[in-house]
Amino acid sequence: MLSGLFDSHLHTPLCGHATGTPREYAQAALDAGLAGLCFTDHSPMPAWYDAPWRMRLDQLQEYVDEVRAVQAEFAGRLDVRLGLEADFHPGTERFVEGLLAAHDWDYVIGSVHYLGAWGFDNPEFVAEYGARDLAGLYGDYYTLVEGAACSGLFNSIGHLDLPKKFGHRDPDGAAALRALDAVAAAGLALDFNTAGWRKPVAEAYPSPDLVAEAVKRGIPFVLGSDAHKPGEMGHRFAEAAALIEGVGGKIVTYVGRVRQG
Ligand SMILES: [Zn+2]
Ligand SMILES: [Zn+2]
Repeated sequence: MLSGLFDSHLHTPLCGHATGTPREYAQAALDAGLAGLCFTDHSPMPAWYDAPWRMRLDQLQEYVDEVRAVQAEFAGRLDVRLGLEADFHPGTERFVEGLLAAHDWDYVIGSVHYLGAWGFDNPEFVAEYGARDLAGLYGDYYTLVEGAACSGLFNSIGHLDLPKKFGHRDPDGAAALRALDAVAAAGLALDFNTAGWRKPVAEAYPSPDLVAEAVKRGIPFVLGSDAHKPGEMGHRFAEAAALIEGVGGKIVTYVGRVRQG
């Protein structure tokens, strides 16, 4: 059973690529035995950035209103929180800063989904991996993660080792450790993201090795299914919790952007 656990990474149809209403996600969380959830839909970004895969800025209020309605409906049965998954992409920091000031968020994930103009986790563009040097790719990626950690915008880093999604594993590892140092120094958590278990790599983000390195640095974890449909709520959370706690790691959640536990 998943009693006591929160799912703090999930989406809504406002992002354009998720199905199920917010109340259906909440009902699925209850049915799975979760204690709560934090909606973290893909945040608006400047209009030129990744527009088909996220809500528009003029939909943000609708998102907040929908989450507040579910919060009210499930009060006393399920702890429903309001968050965002924002992107870290150089040049967009001021825009994100504005969003974060506009509402009372509980939790904000900072994710890197792009290297330059390449959406590297999009299955449509997977062929690009063949044109890249993997060590260089991971070096560039983790430099961006360090930037996200140092930006002061986020509570956690989303799916830390995301470039492995289709099976292209990091041949080196040094850049990942530097990113973990930055995450620890900034006092951030890591999104322990079970979606990786549903992808070709068939491994949660971050890998067991990186989980152990994070634990050494005192970095806690926030559990997230990255659900894009209600049936994915709490996906393999018992296993995730066992993996983290088995190496002495800590699972936390956020309220009002303050760490709990
Ligand atoms: Zn998504
Ligand atoms: Zn993401």
